[in-house]
Amino acid sequence: MRVFDCLSGSCTRPSCDGCIFRPVRSLRIALKSRAIEKSDETADAPVGSWERSEPVTPIQRPTPQKEASSKKRKRLLAPREEIAWFPVIKPELCNGCGDCKVLCKPGVFELGEPDPAGIHRPKLIVAHPYNCLVLCNRCVPICTSGAIILPPKEEFEKYIEYID
Ligand code: SF4
Ligand code: SF4
Repeated sequence: MRVFDCLSGSCTRPSCDGCIFRPVRSLRIALKSRAIEKSDETADAPVGSWERSEPVTPIQRPTPQKEASSKKRKRLLAPREEIAWFPVIKPELCNGCGDCKVLCKPGVFELGEPDPAGIHRPKLIVAHPYNCLVLCNRCVPICTSGAIILPPKEEFEKYIEYID
């Protein structure tokens, strides 16, 4: 059933253009986005730039409301290009649904070449690996095909300094 293929992201049509199930795709992305936002509320903030030379902002006492949503502030201890934290896509598992590209705010993913022998639509590639936020792992649950892998977090904690 195509509607379930769309909802699961496993549709094999080359493109969503003109498809009557486009609202289903929007619903799928909205559901994933909401699930990710919920998990973000409890996670520490990831780190995206090398900030060591910047002065540390004095700690301000948070209001009760802020305290509930506050995350540990961190900064990188090395230039971003020296930290190999970024995802890898297993092409044999990627179905080209595009959800990772839609939901990764720093723009790490781009469409690859169309695959005429396979699913016809482009699979995704990691085009801008150093845009990836260190210790972020939001795209792993986004990809329900299990095509996205990240290195072990523990190996990258050494690049992070906790500010408060
Ligand atoms: S990597 Fe996963 S989320 Fe991204 S397009 Fe491929 S199957 Fe979809
Ligand atoms: S971990 Fe995934 S979602 Fe997070 S910034 Fe990197 S590529 Fe984007």
